This record gives sequence, structure tokens and C-alpha cells, in this order.
Amino acid sequence: MQCGLLGEHLSHSFSPQIHAQLGTYPYRLYEVQPEGLGNFLNNTPFTGINVTIPYKKAVIPYCKQLTPTAALLGAVNTIIRQSDGSLLGHNTDYAGFRSMVEHSGLDVGMKKVLVLGSGGASATVVAVLKELNANPVVISRTGENNYSNLNKHADAAVIVNTTPVGMYPNNGLAPIDIDLFPTLEGILDLIYNPHRTALLMQAEKRNLVTENGLWMLVAQAKESAEYFTGSAIDDRIIQKIHTSLKKQTENIVLIGMPGCGKSTVGSLLANKLQRTFVDADTEIEKEAGMSIPEIFARGGEQSFRKIESTVLERLGKKSGLVIATGGGCVTIPENYPHLHQNGIMIYLNRSIDTLPTDGRPLSNKDNLEILYTVRKPLYEQFLDVSVANNGSIDDTVDHILLMLSKGDLT
Ligand code: NAP
Repeated sequence: MQCGLLGEHLSHSFSPQIHAQLGTYPYRLYEVQPEGLGNFLNNTPFTGINVTIPYKKAVIPYCKQLTPTAALLGAVNTIIRQSDGSLLGHNTDYAGFRSMVEHSGLDVGMKKVLVLGSGGASATVVAVLKELNANPVVISRTGENNYSNLNKHADAAVIVNTTPVGMYPNNGLAPIDIDLFPTLEGILDLIYNPHRTALLMQAEKRNLVTENGLWMLVAQAKESAEYFTGSAIDDRIIQKIHTSLKKQTENIVLIGMPGCGKSTVGSLLANKLQRTFVDADTEIEKEAGMSIPEIFARGGEQSFRKIESTVLERLGKKSGLVIATGGGCVTIPENYPHLHQNGIMIYLNRSIDTLPTDGRPLSNKDNLEILYTVRKPLYEQFLDVSVANNGSIDDTVDHILLMLSKGDLT
């Protein structure tokens, strides 16, 4: 048995990790250039493959048969080789998005739902929404309903983003400003990298329901695996894989006062989790080509903060890191979305009379208390969880590991 994923650029795919938890079949990535598509489909002895950008439509002529869902959507994301060697095309994105709506808890029935984008995923989303008795309106850059007349739809209850706007590596961009929609209940974003797009972060600020595309990705993979193996798989596996993938791909970001132990705790934590540890201060020195005291001496704190934000923007886009930040990163509000988009923020809380001061440009004994008074509320705005670090480093790391294993940090 041989399964895999067909696409043009696949280096960032999560599919191998997901399928490794769905079955024991080998699953490999097939990066194929457009001119090689026919040869690949005709001559590769796969049992079943998933299909991604840009081939979901292009593979249709090679399929002898389409399932009713694939025919309805005019797109194929799963191909099965039949016993006579011919290819059957199916689309599991339909089941994936349906499952995502259910998981979000949003009730879309009889409500206006704006679907941003008019590509392949949009067609799937619209078909599912119609089945759920919602009233979908597609917003397209070139359509009758477009980004210049969104005010016609200020009564929208839900927004689904099917555009790639805000997706890695173009993090931080949002296709719309949700202030236009006062009665909005929630946003579903098909993007899963980053975990929280700029659009989802707008919704978080208003305490709306949010869901990214990771659930859909896992749910559609589960249905593909059922096609590959010919056996039903319990739906509960979706939650299990979703949780483990989220845990593996989210960054763990340590924030806190200078000297509170972020670098020591971070490096030991990374070691125990077999993750890469990154110290933001070291990255800042690399970026600037000089030491931190030199940066302060030449351009002052403002210059340092600018370099720090550039570094945090770059690190925050990555996945699965343990990041120790500098104590003052919380003074710059734009650092919050950089770190929050893919990260769980742990505030390492250490009693200030035990904080060291040597070699730290902003914390000498006299102003440490003032610094703490100013920064404490900022740490509280950034944090997801606060962890005391007044005992041994091992105890603190074990405490964080326990929280991670119990799912308290997801
Ligand atoms: P697609 O066929 O290329 O369609 C994307 C649509 O977005 C385009 O048709 C376009 O619609 C709009 N768009 C593209 N660039 C834009 C821009 N710069 N500004 C505003 N709108 C823009 O791609 P797709 O296959 O539908 O996938 C779309 C997204 O969904 C991708 O991010 C993909 O990763 C994600 N996806 C996720 C899952 C999952 O399992 N989570 C499954 C499928 C897809 P208009 O020209 O009409 O504006």
C-alpha cells in the first residue's frame, strides 16, 4: 500500500504527521511540476493520494469516476486507485469543513454568512453552508459583492475566510476590518498557519467565536484515510490529532522581568521537549551585528526596541520553538500579535528581590521596582498563563511540562 500527497510545493505540509496517526500505511510527499502531472498519475503505483494546490481541478480528467461530492464541487482532493487500475476522485474538504463548523459551535442556520474569496475552498464552504440552511454571500475582489460594498452586509452573523490573505509567510495581513459588522458572532478561517491569523485576532478582541483551519485539515484527512484503507475510523481521533498537532506546532514563549530565568528555563524546557530553543536577545545581537549594550549606547532604547520587534515578528511566524524574550518586549503593543499568533505565552514570575541586575541596561537596583510596577500589568496583558519561578529551575520546568501534558496550556 502506498499513499501520499500530490502538490507543487509541499515542504510545509502537516499531512504526513496527521496520516501517521490515522493508519500504518506509508505516506509520502509527491512534489510534481504541472508538466509532469499526467505522467505521475498514469505511472505511479499509489493506492490513494491526497491532492492539493494547484491540482484539485487539474486531476479531474484523469479520474474515470467522481463521487457525487467531487462532482458537485468540481474539485478532487482525494484519489483512490480502483481494483481495475482506474482512478476514483473524491473531495473530503466537504466533510472537513462541515466538521469544522460543528466543532466551532456556531449555529449558521438561517443566518447571513460572508464567504471571503471565490476559489476552490469557497465553493466547498458555500455548498456546506447551503446544506446547513445558512445564507452564504461570496465576497470576491471582482464580484458584485466585493470589498468596496461590504457595508451592504453589515448584518452578517458569521464570516468564513477562504482567501490566503494572512497565511504564512504573509502573516499579519487581514482581508477585512470586522468593525463593519456589529452583530457578528464568529469567524472561521480556513488558514491553519499561523494558528491565529490577524483576522482571528480581531475576532478574539471582541470575544467572538473563532476557529482556524486545523480542525478541517484533520477532519478531511480522516475521511481520506477511510477511503485509503476501506475502513471506518472513529470520529474521536480528530480531537486527538488536533490536540497533538496544535501542541507540537505552537511556540512556547517565555515572558517576564529581566533575570527571571527565561533563558535557563527555556533552554532546559526545549531540551526536555526536544524542541529548538531561541533566545531573542541573542537573535537581536545577530540581527544588529553588535552586543545589546552597544545597541543601547549607539541608538538608545528606541533603536533596540525596533530591532527587537523585527526579530519577534520573524520568530513568531515559526512553529514549535521555545522562545525566551527580553524583559521589555511587552512595552511594545505590536509584539503581542507577533508572539500570540502561534504561541502560548508563559509569564515567569520571580520575586523581584532575587532578580539579578548586572549587565542589564535597564535594570539597576534603584529602578528595578519602578520597572516592575510599570511592566507587571503589561505582562498580565500578554500572558496566557503565569508560572512562579522562585524554587529550582528543574521544579519550574517540571511544572510547565505537567501543564503541557495535562493540556492546560492549549
Ligand atoms: P484558491 O482557489 O486560490 O482561492 C483563493 C481565493 O481567494 C481566490 O479565488 C480569490 O478570490 C481570493 N484571493 C486570492 N488572493 C487574494 C488576495 N490577495 N486578496 C483577497 N482575496 C484573494 O485557493 P483555495 O484552494 O480556495 O484555498 C484558499 C485558502 O483555503 C488557502 O489558504 C488554503 O490553504 C485554505 N484551505 C484550507 C483547507 C483546510 O483543510 N484547512 C482546505 C482547503 C483550503 P477572488 O478573486 O474572488 O477575490
